[in-house]
Amino acid sequence: MAKLDVVIFPDERLRQHCKEVTVFDDELKQLAEDMFETMYADDGVGLAAPQVGISKRLVVMEVPFDEEKPEELFKEALVNPVIIKKENPMVSKEGCLSVPDYVAEVERFADVTVKYQTLDGEEKECTAHGLHAVCIQHELDHLDGKLFIDMLSRLKRQMLQKKYTKLKRREHLA
Ligand SMILES: [Zn+2]
Repeated sequence: MAKLDVVIFPDERLRQHCKEVTVFDDELKQLAEDMFETMYADDGVGLAAPQVGISKRLVVMEVPFDEEKPEELFKEALVNPVIIKKENPMVSKEGCLSVPDYVAEVERFADVTVKYQTLDGEEKECTAHGLHAVCIQHELDHLDGKLFIDMLSRLKRQMLQKKYTKLKRREHLA
């Protein structure tokens, strides 16, 4: 396994519309494993392939089914996931490994049903609630080049863009 580099906003690779996965081979499994390792290393609960610069419809997550029972975890790699039902709007407080040290409130749905394939290509469906549902919505947005900060006001977004561009420049100098 290997930890991968996380792509940081405003990198354009976060804006790609990712490609459907059609080959379910060892390479795909390896990528999912590496994404899990990367997610654990950065203390995330979910990670999407474009966040490591890969244009594939693949996300990994490890998140409780129910926040009241934190030991029962939904640990899964979701291939070609599609939300087929969403209900009950809610406000969620989110962060993202690609937008470090920033948390914002965005509008999501509290209950979603997602259809996806496993790493072996098997079809599955799952209904999720609360944090689990939010995580699915956040990660799936990444596959279409969307970030949670897109839902903020234009002014807030421009401030963020400036802040992260500056940080990036400083990194290059170091
Ligand atoms: Zn994210």
